[in-house]
Amino acid sequence: MNKWWKNGVAFSCTQCGKCCNARDDVAYVYVSQHERRLLAKEFKMSLATFTRHYALRENDGKFFLRFVDGHCIFLHDNKCIVHHVKPTQCRTWPFWEEVMASKEVYQTQVLDFCPGSNVDTPIISANEIAKQIKETDDAFFEV
Ligand code: SF4
Ligand code: SF4
Repeated sequence: MNKWWKNGVAFSCTQCGKCCNARDDVAYVYVSQHERRLLAKEFKMSLATFTRHYALRENDGKFFLRFVDGHCIFLHDNKCIVHHVKPTQCRTWPFWEEVMASKEVYQTQVLDFCPGSNVDTPIISANEIAKQIKETDDAFFEV
């Protein structure tokens, strides 16, 4: 990977909720069994009940959160109602391998879109970015 971000990047999520909406018809927030267990506990539900209400399953067996009216089912009044137990990919965006692959991709996917990336904000270190990329990868391969 071209580590154009080796000196870190300025980023601080403003919790505007934009990335919780479907974008170009893409509406996938994957949730592993571990993540669904945490969410189910939050709602005081069994894993099976939570999964039935809030998730859908792809042909390859992976689960993802339902979207309603073009946004994640957990986005209420533009705020995430499960913020402290949200899935890994929500917590780590935009520090995903495919997004950080080049400055050009980061420009279109993040700088042109996300208010948290475009201001004088704290620098996220290269070590932290690498850690979040790995966490995202690991979570993606859990079912
Ligand atoms: S679009 Fe950016 S600033 Fe807004 S919620 Fe998502 S990560 Fe945070
Ligand atoms: S779980 Fe929360 S942070 Fe993740 S997409 Fe849904 S509303 Fe947004």
